[in-house]
Parts: sequence; structure tokens; C-alpha cells
Amino acid sequence: MTSKQVKPLSGAVRTSAGAVRPLAGVRITGGLLHHWQRRNGTATIPHTIEQLRAAGNVANLSRLLEQDPAPYRGRYPFLDTDLYKTLEGLAYELGDGRAGEPVREFFDEVVGLLERVQAGDGYLNSFFQDPAATKKPWEDLAWGHELYNLGHLIQAAVAAARRMGDERLLRVAERFADLVVERFADDGVCGHPEVEMALVELYRETGLRAYLDLAAAFVDRRGKGQLKHSIFPGDYFQDHLPFRELPSVTGHAVRMAYLAAGAADVYLETGDRSLFEALERLWDDMVATKLYVTGGLGSRHSDEAIGDRYELPSERAYTETCAAIAVMQWGWRMFLATGGAGYLDVFERVLYNAYAVGLSADGKAFFYDNPLQRRPDHEQRSGAEAGGEPLRRAWFTCPCCPPNIVRWMAQLGDYVAAERDGALLVASYAEGRIEGTELDLAVETAYPWDGDVRLTVERAPDGPYGLVLRVPGWARGATVTVNGRPHEADAAVTDGGGSRAAEPHDGWLTVERRWQAGDEVRLTLPMPVRAHGSHPYLDATRGAASLARGPLVYCVEQQDSPDAAVDDLVIGVPEIVNANIERRDDAVVLTLTAAAAPPPSSELYPELPLEEAPLETTVTAAFVPYFLWGNRGPEAMRVWVRTPDATNGKKAK
Ligand SMILES: [Zn+2]
Repeated sequence: MTSKQVKPLSGAVRTSAGAVRPLAGVRITGGLLHHWQRRNGTATIPHTIEQLRAAGNVANLSRLLEQDPAPYRGRYPFLDTDLYKTLEGLAYELGDGRAGEPVREFFDEVVGLLERVQAGDGYLNSFFQDPAATKKPWEDLAWGHELYNLGHLIQAAVAAARRMGDERLLRVAERFADLVVERFADDGVCGHPEVEMALVELYRETGLRAYLDLAAAFVDRRGKGQLKHSIFPGDYFQDHLPFRELPSVTGHAVRMAYLAAGAADVYLETGDRSLFEALERLWDDMVATKLYVTGGLGSRHSDEAIGDRYELPSERAYTETCAAIAVMQWGWRMFLATGGAGYLDVFERVLYNAYAVGLSADGKAFFYDNPLQRRPDHEQRSGAEAGGEPLRRAWFTCPCCPPNIVRWMAQLGDYVAAERDGALLVASYAEGRIEGTELDLAVETAYPWDGDVRLTVERAPDGPYGLVLRVPGWARGATVTVNGRPHEADAAVTDGGGSRAAEPHDGWLTVERRWQAGDEVRLTLPMPVRAHGSHPYLDATRGAASLARGPLVYCVEQQDSPDAAVDDLVIGVPEIVNANIERRDDAVVLTLTAAAAPPPSSELYPELPLEEAPLETTVTAAFVPYFLWGNRGPEAMRVWVRTPDATNGKKAK
């Protein structure tokens, strides 16, 4: 290794190709995201630590310090990553002052174990370091997950260094990374992408170019059919075609999106346009043809694969929680690269739906896959293995998702705002304080439950400065006032404390002026209830409608449709857009009237009549945010409901 360059400031990231820079100085102090972060600290993290101990993840390390180590526990060679993801989350919690002594003790215990277990040459993996291991290090790159392990180690280490100023884990990660730089100088690539993102971050943290070069090499080397596996084909690993030649996102969903996020990081540092062109093409294609309305990615249980274009079945949706996180990581990097607000629309759709649904309301149970429909007679696959739990489960044999939820929940503040020269960009709205640029703001809002946002200037620079507010694609007719005056009134006064505000352009609304402490900006994002259909090629939901309000997708559970089976509800667009918006304790609920189709004939494929009788029964039903479903018992649920168009000609009265 060459000598180290100056380390960037805590949380700061240098980018050469990026349009905007991330901002680490955001504190969320109220509202839904705050509730989620508090629950993470009080419920999910203690539960996760307990499960990691019970499942043997900690013992897998500590046993290696014994003379005659007990056998490795668990089925998979990547169980160290569940510790790493948890450590990453804990680093945010500890660094941001949200965690107490038990969390610090666990953090210190595991870091101490990692320091002691790491081999003399830097290698670290409790599965392969087992004297009784059936495979040697680096022998099985397709399935060994060793670089995937390293990736999560690096991410935890960088988080600890930046947020806590604790570099112990960074030393461990660097030693392993240095070994990998040597070992993989000329060839080889991991079966599970992840390390690419991490190596770029390690480059940003240390300034050592070798890490960036290796990340770029891993992206470039993929796609040459070198990963051999007895079960999975090359496209599972995205190893059937070079990244730049992929026609569409494909293969294992989490692998694909982690790879793309890593490639985006490489682009942010190298400015390699050919990489960006591929990223943009793949992202656009994914959003247009392969993403569920919830933002979930992955249509097939088989191989946890993405599937074909428009192959988006509701009840068999896979949409692994980890894939949701990976899509957010990718989308955020595309936003950094371009400043494009559309990437944040997708980010938010994933955050509030496909990601949030993965965790129970009490924070102690998890979905691994996230279907958009549950049939009344649903049979739970692997229910017995998981103790027969019919909905979210306390833990998994392959527990990749729970600690991924933990680390992502802990860092939500990092995805609220960004900066570019002379301007602060507010990417999403959460109650809290935004610091770190020349303009400090206090934000008050109940977003995503309503679209009113009040931003108060607490500290301002001397000269003009831009405040750039994201206007989500669904927020038609958004308005902004500055100190109580609509922006049109202000537009006439551009000097001496006046302000200029532009119409939303490409999803951004810019107010540039000389700010003073106490200035107040009010943004109003209208949040009517929306009815969404689907592309005509999307057979699974053709003719059906889904309900949304703001960034939230809604669903109906049987508990909230007392007079009709959810499968018999028939709802027209007028009933949807005129739904009652009701604020309850923990959520905004939509209530509406619907028609109820009579029980269908028993024939699976009846011959269609020329014309059918109109539907006459009227019932009421309540829709809850999709992320809240499955917290009141295992009953039927639908995101997509029948519309009058989808009932073989039946029209609701
Ligand atoms: Zn997962």
C-alpha cells in the first residue's frame, strides 16, 4: 500500500462525476421516520442482538479462539455479514447518540472478537477459518460470499470511523481489503456483488486509489461466465453478460441491484460515461417494466430472480426486503450522479412501501419476501421451519433481511438532504434539523401523512443561497410561500432580502435569496387519493386498481371489509379518488364505498355471457398503508382491487 492521503471530513464524500453531494448533518426528531428510528433502537436492535447470539453468529467467531473449536453454526457461509450489518447500524446509533450502554457493549464485544479472530494475513471469515471447513478460502468464489462478507465489514467499519470516530474496525477492514487487493489483482470476482460499493467507500475514507481500482475491476470483470455453480445459471450472478451489455436488470434481484449501486459508485468517482449510460438504461427499464407498484423488485421465488418484463404477479411477488434496500442504494446514487428528482420518487416509493413492510409494527418480526396479495387460504411456505408463524417471523435461517433493515433504519437521516455549490437540496421531508451546509433549517411536517412542510431558517450565509425543494411526481399543484407571501409576490423583489422562486422544474422548486434567521418557507404538497392502473402487458393486474396517497401505497385487509370478501370488492375510480381520508392513531386510513360482486360461479373458466347484470350490493371498506398490513392476524389482503372494468362487463351502480 502506498502512503495514505488526507482523510475526508466525517461523512463527507468526494465525488468527481456527481451533480450533488450527500449531507450527513440531518437529525430526524419527529414523525413517522422518527418513530421508525426509535423503534429500531428500542425493539429491533435488542431483538436482533438476541437473535444473533441465539443463532450462533457471535459464537461462530468466539469459538475460533478456542483450542478445539465447536462446529460452525448455520447453513450459509455469509453469517458474519449479519453481524457486520448490525454493527453498521449500531455505529449510526452510537455515533448519533441514540444508543445506550448495552449496544456499546455488544459493539465492543464483536469488534474485539473480529480483531482477535482475523488471520495474520488479514483474512477474516468464520466459516472458512474453521479448521474443519470443507472448503478452503477463495476456493468457491461463486458461493463462498467472502468478498460479500468483506463488503459488509467495510461498510460497518466506515460507518464506525465516520460516525463514532472509532477506527478499530477500519483497521480490520483495511487489512482484509489489502489482502484482497493483492489476491484479486488480475482476476476473480465474487458470486454476490456488494463489495464494489464498499471498496469505493473505503477509497473515499482512506484516499487509497487501489480500492477504487479494484471496485471498478470487479464491475468490469463480471459477465464472462467465470462463476460456476451446480444449481444457478450465469445470469443469477449477472455473469452471463458484461454489465454494460445487460439489456435489462436480470438474475438474482439483490445481487443485481447491489451490483448496479456499486457500479454507480464507481461512476461517481471515475466519471466513466459508458458505465453511467448502462446504469441509466437499466434503471429506466427497471422502473418502466419490472418494479412493483410498491417499489419491490423480484418477481420469482425461483432463484429469487427478477423475472421478465411485466411479469409482476401479486400473490407470488418475491420483492425481498434486501432488494428494496439495494434499489434505494442504487436510486440514491443515481440522484447524486444527476440531481434527478425522479430517482427520489422511486426511492421514496420503495422506502415507504417495499422496505417498510418488511418489519412488523412492533419491530420484532420480519418478512423476507413481500407479496402484494394474500389469499384467504394461503399456505405458508416453510411455516413449519419458522415455527409455523403465518406472517412475519422472528428470524430466518438465511437472516439477511433483518440486520439490513436495522442498518438502513439507523441511517435514514442521510437520505433527507443533499448539497451542491450554493444550494441545499431537500430530497425528502421529515421533522428535524438540517445542518451541514451554509443554511441551517428546522423542518416541521407530518409527512408522509400530510403534505404541509414548514422550513424555518436558523442560520444563513451572508450572500444569496438556494433552497431547492423536491416536488414529488404525484404532488400536482404544489405551492410555496416565503414569510407568508406566495412566491409570485416575492418574484418581483429579487434584491435586498426579496426572493425568487421558480415553478417546479423536473421535480425541483428553487427559492434563491438572501436568507435571514427566522425566515419561514411553507411548502404544500397536495395529497389527494390516487387510483393507479397498470400497463396493458401486465397481465396479473390488468383492469385492477391500486390506491395511493402521497408516497404511500394502500391495501385492504379482510378485517377492514366486514361485509364482503376482499376478492369480491369492486371499486371504481370515482369511489377511490373520493375516499374519506381519516387520521387514526398510527396512520392515515382511507375509507370508501364499494360494490360487492355476488359470489362467483364455481366454474374456473365459465363461458362469458354477452352482458351481465349490474352489481347492486354496496359495502364499505377501509384501506390501510400497505406497510402496515399483516399486523392484526393472517387474513386475506389485496393491493390491487377489482374495478368495474375487470368484472367481465359487470358495472357497479
Ligand atoms: Zn434479505
